[in-house]
Amino acid sequence: MSYNELQNHMQRIADVNYAAATLGWDQETYMPPGAAGFKASQLSTLSGITHQLFTGDKTEALLSSLKNSVGLSEAEKKNVAQIEEDFNRQKKYSTEFVENMSRAVSDAFNAWQQARKESNFKLFAPYLEKLIAIKKQECELLGYQGYPYNALLNLHEKNATVAELDVLFTDVRKELVPFVKKVQQAKQVDNRFFFQHFDRDTQWQFGIELLKQMGFDFNRGRQDISSHPFTTSFSQNDVRVTTRINENDFSEMIWSCIHEGGHALYEQGLPAEQYGMPLGEAISLGIHESQSRLWENNVGRSLAYWKHNFALVQKHFPEQMKNVSALDFYKGTNRVEPSLIRTSSDELTYHFHVMIRYEIEKQIFEDKLKVNDLPDYWNAKYKEYLNIDVPNDAQGVLQDVHWSHGSFGYFPTYSLGSFYAAQFFHQATKEMPNLLTEIENGNTHNLLNWLREKIHKHGKFYTAQELCIKVTSEKLNFAHFMHYAATKYGTIYGLG
Ligand SMILES: [Zn+2]
Repeated sequence: MSYNELQNHMQRIADVNYAAATLGWDQETYMPPGAAGFKASQLSTLSGITHQLFTGDKTEALLSSLKNSVGLSEAEKKNVAQIEEDFNRQKKYSTEFVENMSRAVSDAFNAWQQARKESNFKLFAPYLEKLIAIKKQECELLGYQGYPYNALLNLHEKNATVAELDVLFTDVRKELVPFVKKVQQAKQVDNRFFFQHFDRDTQWQFGIELLKQMGFDFNRGRQDISSHPFTTSFSQNDVRVTTRINENDFSEMIWSCIHEGGHALYEQGLPAEQYGMPLGEAISLGIHESQSRLWENNVGRSLAYWKHNFALVQKHFPEQMKNVSALDFYKGTNRVEPSLIRTSSDELTYHFHVMIRYEIEKQIFEDKLKVNDLPDYWNAKYKEYLNIDVPNDAQGVLQDVHWSHGSFGYFPTYSLGSFYAAQFFHQATKEMPNLLTEIENGNTHNLLNWLREKIHKHGKFYTAQELCIKVTSEKLNFAHFMHYAATKYGTIYGLG
Protein backbone atom coordinates (compact mmCIF):
# COMPACT_ATOMS: atom_id res chain seq x y z
CA MET A 1 0.00 0.00 0.00
CA SER A 2 1.27 3.45 -0.86
CA TYR A 3 1.47 6.77 0.90
CA ASN A 4 -0.90 8.14 -1.78
CA GLU A 5 -3.56 5.69 -0.72
CA LEU A 6 -3.28 6.92 2.85
CA GLN A 7 -3.54 10.49 1.62
CA ASN A 8 -6.65 9.74 -0.46
CA HIS A 9 -8.22 7.94 2.47
CA MET A 10 -7.52 10.84 4.84
CA GLN A 11 -8.86 13.35 2.35
CA ARG A 12 -12.17 11.49 2.11
CA ILE A 13 -12.43 11.61 5.89
CA ALA A 14 -11.61 15.33 5.81
CA ASP A 15 -14.41 15.81 3.25
CA VAL A 16 -16.96 14.42 5.70
CA ASN A 17 -15.44 16.34 8.63
CA TYR A 18 -15.51 19.66 6.82
CA ALA A 19 -19.08 19.00 5.67
CA ALA A 20 -19.97 18.58 9.36
CA ALA A 21 -18.07 21.78 10.15
CA THR A 22 -20.25 23.58 7.60
CA LEU A 23 -23.34 22.41 9.48
CA GLY A 24 -21.77 23.45 12.79
CA TRP A 25 -21.13 26.92 11.38
CA ASP A 26 -24.72 27.11 10.14
CA GLN A 27 -25.96 26.09 13.59
CA GLU A 28 -24.35 29.19 15.10
CA THR A 29 -25.06 31.68 12.33
CA TYR A 30 -28.14 31.32 10.13
CA MET A 31 -30.03 28.22 11.29
CA PRO A 32 -33.68 28.93 12.20
CA PRO A 33 -34.40 27.78 15.78
CA GLY A 34 -36.91 25.13 14.69
CA ALA A 35 -34.19 23.28 12.77
CA ALA A 36 -32.22 22.40 15.92
CA GLY A 37 -33.46 18.80 16.33
CA PHE A 38 -32.76 17.50 12.84
CA LYS A 39 -29.54 19.47 12.61
CA ALA A 40 -28.35 17.70 15.76
CA SER A 41 -29.12 14.31 14.16
CA GLN A 42 -27.29 15.24 10.97
CA LEU A 43 -24.21 16.28 12.91
CA SER A 44 -24.35 13.18 15.03
CA THR A 45 -24.64 10.92 11.96
CA LEU A 46 -21.72 12.61 10.23
CA SER A 47 -19.52 12.35 13.31
CA GLY A 48 -20.36 8.64 13.48
CA ILE A 49 -19.40 8.20 9.82
CA THR A 50 -16.01 9.91 10.16
CA HIS A 51 -15.30 7.93 13.29
CA GLN A 52 -16.07 4.65 11.49
CA LEU A 53 -14.02 5.64 8.45
CA PHE A 54 -11.04 6.69 10.51
CA THR A 55 -11.00 3.82 13.00
CA GLY A 56 -11.78 1.15 10.38
CA ASP A 57 -9.58 -1.68 9.10
CA LYS A 58 -8.46 0.32 6.10
CA THR A 59 -6.68 2.95 8.22
CA GLU A 60 -5.08 0.23 10.30
CA ALA A 61 -3.84 -1.66 7.22
CA LEU A 62 -2.49 1.51 5.61
CA LEU A 63 -0.69 2.53 8.79
CA SER A 64 0.87 -0.85 9.44
CA SER A 65 2.16 -1.13 5.88
CA LEU A 66 3.58 2.40 5.89
CA LYS A 67 4.98 2.51 9.40
CA ASN A 68 8.26 0.86 8.55
CA SER A 69 8.39 1.69 4.88
CA VAL A 70 11.60 3.25 3.62
CA GLY A 71 11.74 6.14 1.20
CA LEU A 72 9.20 8.36 2.89
CA SER A 73 10.15 12.03 3.23
CA GLU A 74 10.45 13.62 6.68
CA ALA A 75 7.08 15.31 6.17
CA GLU A 76 5.44 12.04 5.12
CA LYS A 77 6.89 10.26 8.13
CA LYS A 78 5.51 12.96 10.42
CA ASN A 79 2.07 12.59 8.85
CA VAL A 80 2.10 8.81 9.27
CA ALA A 81 3.24 9.09 12.91
CA GLN A 82 0.62 11.71 13.78
CA ILE A 83 -2.18 9.78 12.09
CA GLU A 84 -1.15 6.68 13.99
CA GLU A 85 -1.22 8.52 17.30
CA ASP A 86 -4.64 9.89 16.50
CA PHE A 87 -5.83 6.49 15.32
CA ASN A 88 -4.75 4.83 18.56
CA ARG A 89 -6.63 7.46 20.53
CA GLN A 90 -9.79 7.35 18.40
CA LYS A 91 -9.83 3.53 18.59
CA LYS A 92 -10.57 3.95 22.27
CA TYR A 93 -13.98 5.44 21.43
CA SER A 94 -16.85 3.29 20.23
CA THR A 95 -19.11 4.65 17.49
CA GLU A 96 -21.91 4.59 20.05
CA PHE A 97 -19.86 6.74 22.44
CA VAL A 98 -19.08 9.28 19.72
CA GLU A 99 -22.71 9.56 18.65
CA ASN A 100 -23.84 9.89 22.27
CA MET A 101 -21.34 12.64 22.82
CA SER A 102 -22.38 14.49 19.68
CA ARG A 103 -26.05 14.28 20.66
CA ALA A 104 -25.33 15.41 24.24
CA VAL A 105 -23.32 18.35 22.90
CA SER A 106 -26.07 19.48 20.51
CA ASP A 107 -28.69 19.21 23.27
CA ALA A 108 -26.48 21.04 25.75
CA PHE A 109 -25.72 23.77 23.23
CA ASN A 110 -29.41 24.37 22.57
CA ALA A 111 -30.20 24.35 26.31
CA TRP A 112 -27.33 26.76 26.97
CA GLN A 113 -28.65 29.21 24.40
CA GLN A 114 -32.08 29.20 26.03
CA ALA A 115 -30.67 29.33 29.57
CA ARG A 116 -28.44 32.25 28.70
CA LYS A 117 -31.34 34.08 27.06
CA GLU A 118 -33.42 33.66 30.20
CA SER A 119 -30.41 34.00 32.51
CA ASN A 120 -31.39 30.80 34.25
CA PHE A 121 -28.63 28.28 34.98
CA LYS A 122 -31.17 25.64 36.07
CA LEU A 123 -32.30 25.20 32.45
CA PHE A 124 -28.75 24.25 31.48
CA ALA A 125 -27.75 22.26 34.59
CA PRO A 126 -29.22 18.81 33.70
CA TYR A 127 -27.66 18.89 30.21
CA LEU A 128 -24.33 20.01 31.58
CA GLU A 129 -24.47 17.26 34.18
CA LYS A 130 -25.03 14.65 31.48
CA LEU A 131 -22.22 16.04 29.37
CA ILE A 132 -19.79 16.03 32.31
CA ALA A 133 -20.67 12.39 33.01
CA ILE A 134 -19.77 11.54 29.41
CA LYS A 135 -16.55 13.57 29.66
CA LYS A 136 -15.61 11.64 32.81
CA GLN A 137 -16.11 8.40 30.88
CA GLU A 138 -13.88 9.90 28.22
CA CYS A 139 -11.07 10.52 30.73
CA GLU A 140 -11.21 6.84 31.69
CA LEU A 141 -11.29 5.72 28.04
CA LEU A 142 -8.30 7.85 27.14
CA GLY A 143 -6.30 7.14 30.26
CA TYR A 144 -4.16 9.65 32.12
CA GLN A 145 -1.38 10.08 34.62
CA GLY A 146 -2.16 11.95 37.82
CA TYR A 147 -5.32 13.99 37.31
CA PRO A 148 -8.22 12.76 35.11
CA TYR A 149 -8.39 16.36 33.86
CA ASN A 150 -4.98 15.82 32.21
CA ALA A 151 -6.71 13.58 29.65
CA LEU A 152 -8.96 16.47 28.61
CA LEU A 153 -6.17 19.06 28.61
CA ASN A 154 -4.28 16.81 26.22
CA LEU A 155 -7.12 16.86 23.71
CA HIS A 156 -6.60 20.59 23.21
CA GLU A 157 -2.95 21.07 24.06
CA LYS A 158 -0.76 18.03 23.62
CA ASN A 159 1.43 17.34 26.66
CA ALA A 160 -0.23 20.01 28.81
CA THR A 161 -0.66 18.95 32.45
CA VAL A 162 -2.19 20.23 35.66
CA ALA A 163 1.30 20.23 37.17
CA GLU A 164 2.64 22.60 34.50
CA LEU A 165 -0.39 24.84 34.39
CA ASP A 166 -0.40 25.16 38.16
CA VAL A 167 3.14 26.55 37.91
CA LEU A 168 2.13 28.98 35.17
CA PHE A 169 -0.91 30.26 37.05
CA THR A 170 1.23 30.61 40.16
CA ASP A 171 3.40 33.02 38.14
CA VAL A 172 0.24 34.87 37.14
CA ARG A 173 -0.78 35.15 40.78
CA LYS A 174 2.68 36.15 41.96
CA GLU A 175 3.47 38.73 39.28
CA LEU A 176 0.38 39.79 37.37
CA VAL A 177 -2.00 40.14 40.31
CA PRO A 178 0.19 42.65 42.21
CA PHE A 179 0.95 44.51 38.98
CA VAL A 180 -2.76 44.95 38.24
CA LYS A 181 -3.19 46.24 41.81
CA LYS A 182 -0.55 48.91 41.07
CA VAL A 183 -2.32 49.83 37.84
CA GLN A 184 -5.61 50.16 39.70
CA GLN A 185 -4.09 52.65 42.11
CA ALA A 186 -2.92 54.89 39.26
CA LYS A 187 -5.05 57.50 37.53
CA GLN A 188 -7.58 55.71 35.31
CA VAL A 189 -7.57 56.32 31.55
CA ASP A 190 -10.72 57.46 29.78
CA ASN A 191 -12.55 55.21 27.35
CA ARG A 192 -16.02 56.76 27.42
CA PHE A 193 -15.82 57.56 23.72
CA PHE A 194 -16.39 53.87 22.94
CA PHE A 195 -19.84 53.96 24.49
CA GLN A 196 -21.72 56.23 22.10
CA HIS A 197 -23.98 55.21 19.26
CA PHE A 198 -22.02 53.55 16.45
CA ASP A 199 -24.09 52.59 13.45
CA ARG A 200 -24.14 48.87 12.74
CA ASP A 201 -23.46 48.96 9.01
CA THR A 202 -20.62 51.44 9.34
CA GLN A 203 -19.03 49.29 12.04
CA TRP A 204 -19.35 46.27 9.79
CA GLN A 205 -17.64 48.14 6.94
CA PHE A 206 -14.82 49.26 9.23
CA GLY A 207 -14.29 45.69 10.44
CA ILE A 208 -14.03 44.42 6.87
CA GLU A 209 -11.40 47.09 6.13
CA LEU A 210 -9.34 46.00 9.15
CA LEU A 211 -9.51 42.36 8.02
CA LYS A 212 -8.39 43.31 4.50
CA GLN A 213 -5.52 45.35 5.87
CA MET A 214 -4.32 42.37 7.94
CA GLY A 215 -4.22 40.25 4.80
CA PHE A 216 -7.37 38.17 5.30
CA ASP A 217 -8.13 36.67 1.88
CA PHE A 218 -11.83 37.22 1.10
CA ASN A 219 -11.48 35.00 -1.94
CA ARG A 220 -10.84 32.15 0.51
CA GLY A 221 -13.04 33.22 3.40
CA ARG A 222 -15.87 35.39 4.64
CA GLN A 223 -17.21 37.07 7.74
CA ASP A 224 -20.69 36.73 9.26
CA ILE A 225 -22.45 37.58 12.51
CA SER A 226 -22.90 35.27 15.53
CA SER A 227 -23.58 35.78 19.22
CA HIS A 228 -20.20 34.30 20.18
CA PRO A 229 -17.50 35.21 17.63
CA PHE A 230 -15.53 32.25 16.30
CA THR A 231 -13.39 31.00 13.42
CA THR A 232 -13.90 27.74 11.59
CA SER A 233 -12.63 26.38 8.31
CA PHE A 234 -13.96 24.02 5.67
CA SER A 235 -10.51 23.73 4.06
CA GLN A 236 -7.47 26.01 3.85
CA ASN A 237 -9.38 27.77 1.06
CA ASP A 238 -12.59 28.44 2.95
CA VAL A 239 -12.05 30.04 6.33
CA ARG A 240 -15.02 31.58 8.13
CA VAL A 241 -14.89 34.21 10.83
CA THR A 242 -17.80 35.70 12.73
CA THR A 243 -18.08 38.88 14.71
CA ARG A 244 -20.68 40.58 16.86
CA ILE A 245 -21.67 44.22 16.71
CA ASN A 246 -22.84 46.26 19.67
CA GLU A 247 -24.09 49.66 18.55
CA ASN A 248 -23.42 51.07 22.01
CA ASP A 249 -19.91 49.70 22.48
CA PHE A 250 -17.61 50.17 19.50
CA SER A 251 -14.78 48.15 21.07
CA GLU A 252 -16.55 44.75 20.88
CA MET A 253 -16.55 44.56 17.10
CA ILE A 254 -13.00 45.89 16.66
CA TRP A 255 -11.26 43.31 18.83
CA SER A 256 -13.40 40.36 17.95
CA CYS A 257 -12.71 41.16 14.30
CA ILE A 258 -8.93 41.43 14.72
CA HIS A 259 -8.83 38.42 17.07
CA GLU A 260 -10.76 36.09 14.76
CA GLY A 261 -8.83 37.57 11.83
CA GLY A 262 -5.62 36.36 13.50
CA HIS A 263 -7.04 32.84 13.81
CA ALA A 264 -8.14 32.98 10.19
CA LEU A 265 -4.72 34.07 8.89
CA TYR A 266 -3.25 30.96 10.51
CA GLU A 267 -5.86 28.73 8.85
CA GLN A 268 -5.39 30.41 5.47
CA GLY A 269 -1.62 30.05 5.86
CA LEU A 270 -1.69 26.27 6.40
CA PRO A 271 -0.45 24.37 3.34
CA ALA A 272 -3.42 23.45 1.10
CA GLU A 273 -1.46 20.59 -0.49
CA GLN A 274 -1.66 18.92 2.94
CA TYR A 275 -5.49 18.97 2.94
CA GLY A 276 -6.76 16.20 5.22
CA MET A 277 -3.29 15.49 6.65
CA PRO A 278 -1.86 16.58 10.04
CA LEU A 279 0.67 18.83 8.32
CA GLY A 280 -2.29 20.75 6.91
CA GLU A 281 -3.64 21.41 10.41
CA ALA A 282 -2.90 23.82 13.25
CA ILE A 283 -0.57 22.53 15.97
CA SER A 284 -2.71 23.11 19.03
CA LEU A 285 -5.25 25.50 20.49
CA GLY A 286 -2.51 27.33 22.40
CA ILE A 287 -0.59 28.04 19.21
CA HIS A 288 -3.82 28.93 17.42
CA GLU A 289 -4.60 31.39 20.18
CA SER A 290 -1.09 32.81 19.99
CA GLN A 291 -1.91 33.92 16.44
CA SER A 292 -5.18 35.61 17.36
CA ARG A 293 -3.68 37.24 20.46
CA LEU A 294 -0.62 38.47 18.62
CA TRP A 295 -2.84 40.36 16.16
CA GLU A 296 -5.39 41.42 18.74
CA ASN A 297 -3.01 42.61 21.47
CA ASN A 298 0.58 42.95 20.34
CA VAL A 299 -0.49 44.56 17.05
CA GLY A 300 -4.11 45.71 17.48
CA ARG A 301 -3.67 47.31 20.89
CA SER A 302 -0.36 48.97 20.08
CA LEU A 303 0.24 52.69 19.69
CA ALA A 304 1.82 52.07 16.28
CA TYR A 305 -1.35 50.40 14.99
CA TRP A 306 -3.61 53.28 16.02
CA LYS A 307 -1.19 55.94 14.80
CA HIS A 308 -2.18 54.57 11.41
CA ASN A 309 -5.73 53.37 11.88
CA PHE A 310 -7.18 56.12 14.00
CA ALA A 311 -7.63 58.20 10.82
CA LEU A 312 -9.84 55.40 9.51
CA VAL A 313 -11.92 55.48 12.69
CA GLN A 314 -12.32 59.24 12.31
CA LYS A 315 -13.29 58.85 8.66
CA HIS A 316 -16.13 56.47 9.58
CA PHE A 317 -17.19 58.16 12.81
CA PRO A 318 -16.23 61.84 12.62
CA GLU A 319 -18.88 62.99 15.11
CA GLN A 320 -18.08 60.40 17.80
CA MET A 321 -14.32 60.98 17.48
CA LYS A 322 -14.18 64.75 17.12
CA ASN A 323 -12.58 65.34 20.52
CA VAL A 324 -10.45 62.20 20.61
CA SER A 325 -6.78 61.86 19.55
CA ALA A 326 -4.94 58.76 18.38
CA LEU A 327 -3.16 58.68 21.73
CA ASP A 328 -6.46 58.96 23.66
CA PHE A 329 -7.86 56.15 21.55
CA TYR A 330 -4.81 53.96 22.20
CA LYS A 331 -4.94 54.57 25.93
CA GLY A 332 -8.70 53.97 26.02
CA THR A 333 -8.30 50.64 24.24
CA ASN A 334 -5.88 49.57 26.96
CA ARG A 335 -7.93 50.55 29.96
CA VAL A 336 -7.43 47.99 32.71
CA GLU A 337 -10.55 47.35 34.73
CA PRO A 338 -11.88 44.17 36.35
CA SER A 339 -15.09 43.19 34.56
CA LEU A 340 -17.69 40.44 34.29
CA ILE A 341 -17.24 39.22 30.74
CA ARG A 342 -14.06 37.41 29.71
CA THR A 343 -14.30 38.14 25.99
CA SER A 344 -14.46 41.89 26.52
CA SER A 345 -12.00 42.10 29.41
CA ASP A 346 -8.64 43.86 29.19
CA GLU A 347 -5.58 41.80 28.33
CA LEU A 348 -4.28 41.71 31.93
CA THR A 349 -7.33 40.78 34.03
CA TYR A 350 -8.24 38.42 31.17
CA HIS A 351 -5.99 35.83 32.75
CA PHE A 352 -7.91 35.99 36.03
CA HIS A 353 -11.04 34.92 34.11
CA VAL A 354 -9.14 31.97 32.68
CA MET A 355 -7.71 31.06 36.09
CA ILE A 356 -11.24 30.86 37.57
CA ARG A 357 -12.48 28.52 34.84
CA TYR A 358 -9.33 26.41 35.17
CA GLU A 359 -9.87 26.01 38.91
CA ILE A 360 -13.53 25.12 38.39
CA GLU A 361 -12.81 22.51 35.74
CA LYS A 362 -10.04 20.93 37.77
CA GLN A 363 -12.43 20.55 40.70
CA ILE A 364 -15.31 19.19 38.61
CA PHE A 365 -13.10 16.41 37.35
CA GLU A 366 -11.78 15.69 40.81
CA ASP A 367 -15.41 15.38 41.97
CA LYS A 368 -14.92 18.29 44.34
CA LEU A 369 -17.52 20.57 42.79
CA LYS A 370 -21.13 19.78 41.82
CA VAL A 371 -22.95 21.26 38.84
CA ASN A 372 -25.71 22.77 40.99
CA ASP A 373 -23.13 24.63 43.08
CA LEU A 374 -21.47 26.20 40.04
CA PRO A 375 -23.24 29.60 40.04
CA ASP A 376 -22.45 30.24 43.72
CA TYR A 377 -18.88 29.08 43.38
CA TRP A 378 -18.43 31.18 40.25
CA ASN A 379 -19.79 34.30 41.92
CA ALA A 380 -17.57 33.81 44.96
CA LYS A 381 -14.45 33.48 42.77
CA TYR A 382 -15.31 36.64 40.84
CA LYS A 383 -15.53 38.43 44.13
CA GLU A 384 -12.22 37.00 45.28
CA TYR A 385 -10.07 37.61 42.16
CA LEU A 386 -11.80 40.52 40.46
CA ASN A 387 -13.64 42.07 43.38
CA ILE A 388 -16.93 42.32 41.50
CA ASP A 389 -20.46 41.11 42.17
CA VAL A 390 -22.06 38.96 39.49
CA PRO A 391 -25.62 40.21 38.96
CA ASN A 392 -27.04 37.19 37.08
CA ASP A 393 -26.17 33.84 35.47
CA ALA A 394 -26.13 35.22 31.90
CA GLN A 395 -23.26 37.54 32.81
CA GLY A 396 -21.74 34.94 35.08
CA VAL A 397 -21.48 31.20 34.75
CA LEU A 398 -23.50 31.06 31.50
CA GLN A 399 -21.44 33.59 29.55
CA ASP A 400 -19.21 31.18 27.62
CA VAL A 401 -20.27 28.59 25.05
CA HIS A 402 -17.40 26.14 25.75
CA TRP A 403 -18.96 23.89 28.37
CA SER A 404 -22.05 23.43 26.21
CA HIS A 405 -19.70 22.13 23.51
CA GLY A 406 -18.13 19.71 25.99
CA SER A 407 -14.88 21.66 25.67
CA PHE A 408 -13.31 21.14 29.09
CA GLY A 409 -9.56 21.71 29.28
CA TYR A 410 -9.91 24.36 26.61
CA PHE A 411 -9.76 27.61 28.62
CA PRO A 412 -6.11 27.31 29.75
CA THR A 413 -5.07 27.43 26.10
CA TYR A 414 -6.25 31.06 26.00
CA SER A 415 -3.64 32.09 28.54
CA LEU A 416 -1.01 29.91 26.88
CA GLY A 417 -1.86 31.71 23.64
CA SER A 418 -1.20 35.17 25.09
CA PHE A 419 2.08 34.03 26.62
CA TYR A 420 3.24 32.43 23.36
CA ALA A 421 2.12 35.55 21.47
CA ALA A 422 4.25 37.85 23.61
CA GLN A 423 7.26 35.59 23.09
CA PHE A 424 6.74 35.30 19.31
CA PHE A 425 6.17 39.03 18.89
CA HIS A 426 9.29 39.81 20.89
CA GLN A 427 11.24 37.56 18.52
CA ALA A 428 9.63 39.15 15.44
CA THR A 429 10.68 42.65 16.54
CA LYS A 430 14.18 41.35 17.21
CA GLU A 431 14.45 39.92 13.70
CA MET A 432 12.66 42.87 12.06
CA PRO A 433 13.81 46.03 13.86
CA ASN A 434 11.58 48.19 11.63
CA LEU A 435 8.44 46.25 12.43
CA LEU A 436 6.79 48.88 14.61
CA THR A 437 7.52 51.59 12.02
CA GLU A 438 5.95 49.39 9.37
CA ILE A 439 2.85 48.89 11.52
CA GLU A 440 2.75 52.65 12.03
CA ASN A 441 2.55 52.94 8.25
CA GLY A 442 -0.28 50.42 8.01
CA ASN A 443 2.01 47.74 6.65
CA THR A 444 1.79 44.32 8.29
CA HIS A 445 2.86 42.31 5.24
CA ASN A 446 6.30 41.51 6.59
CA LEU A 447 4.84 40.42 9.91
CA LEU A 448 2.35 38.14 8.17
CA ASN A 449 5.08 36.68 5.98
CA TRP A 450 7.21 36.08 9.06
CA LEU A 451 4.34 34.24 10.76
CA ARG A 452 3.65 32.25 7.59
CA GLU A 453 7.31 31.23 7.31
CA LYS A 454 7.99 30.55 10.98
CA ILE A 455 4.66 29.09 12.09
CA HIS A 456 1.77 28.69 9.63
CA LYS A 457 3.41 26.74 6.82
CA HIS A 458 4.62 23.94 9.12
CA GLY A 459 1.17 22.69 10.09
CA LYS A 460 1.69 19.99 12.72
CA PHE A 461 5.30 19.24 11.76
CA TYR A 462 6.47 20.41 15.21
CA THR A 463 4.78 20.18 18.59
CA ALA A 464 3.97 23.48 20.32
CA GLN A 465 7.01 23.08 22.57
CA GLU A 466 9.34 22.30 19.66
CA LEU A 467 8.03 25.18 17.58
CA CYS A 468 8.49 27.64 20.43
CA ILE A 469 12.14 26.63 20.79
CA LYS A 470 12.70 26.62 17.03
CA VAL A 471 11.25 30.12 16.60
CA THR A 472 12.48 31.83 19.79
CA SER A 473 15.40 29.62 20.94
CA GLU A 474 13.78 28.99 24.32
CA LYS A 475 10.76 27.25 25.76
CA LEU A 476 7.61 29.09 26.82
CA ASN A 477 8.64 31.72 29.31
CA PHE A 478 6.06 33.81 31.18
CA ALA A 479 8.69 36.55 31.63
CA HIS A 480 8.09 37.72 28.03
CA PHE A 481 4.43 38.41 28.69
CA MET A 482 5.18 40.05 32.01
CA HIS A 483 7.85 42.26 30.44
CA TYR A 484 5.47 43.27 27.64
CA ALA A 485 2.69 44.01 30.15
CA ALA A 486 4.89 45.95 32.58
CA THR A 487 6.48 48.09 29.84
CA LYS A 488 3.26 48.91 28.02
CA TYR A 489 0.97 49.48 30.99
CA GLY A 490 3.72 51.06 33.05
CA THR A 491 3.91 53.78 30.38
CA ILE A 492 0.16 54.16 29.90
CA TYR A 493 -0.48 54.44 33.63
CA GLY A 494 2.70 56.40 34.39
CA LEU A 495 4.05 53.86 36.87
CA GLY A 496 7.67 54.93 36.32
ZN1 LIG B 1 -9.41 32.83 20.00
